[in-house]
Amino acid sequence: MSLYSEAYAIKERIESDMEDDDMLHRNEFEEYVKQLLTHGLLSHEPDMEGIGKLIVDRGVSTLTNKQLIYFISVGLLENENYVSECCRCTESIPWSEMIYAVTEGDEYCGYCRHMYEKWLYE
Ligand SMILES: [Zn+2]
Repeated sequence: MSLYSEAYAIKERIESDMEDDDMLHRNEFEEYVKQLLTHGLLSHEPDMEGIGKLIVDRGVSTLTNKQLIYFISVGLLENENYVSECCRCTESIPWSEMIYAVTEGDEYCGYCRHMYEKWLYE
């Protein structure tokens, strides 16, 4: 998949999350961007922190199409701040668990990391 079409697929994921009835689920992506900012993971490229702060402060829906695609392409994909699926069970990784998959670098979902740690320390 090209970077551009992958960015569009992620944009669709974010937009369908925003229509979710569950308020917590609806804000998961914005929470994830807040975590990226806290960890300094958007500081490699100019503009990414600025767009990240817009997402956190005003909501992702206030971004233009161009800003959102740019943020996804550079801030998430090029900066390796996105893991599409768990490397063990191949389920897609929820935004709420994404920061662990990225900072641990293991590409596990929460459940599989738990099972792995359980096995490791048993
Ligand atoms: Zn998994």
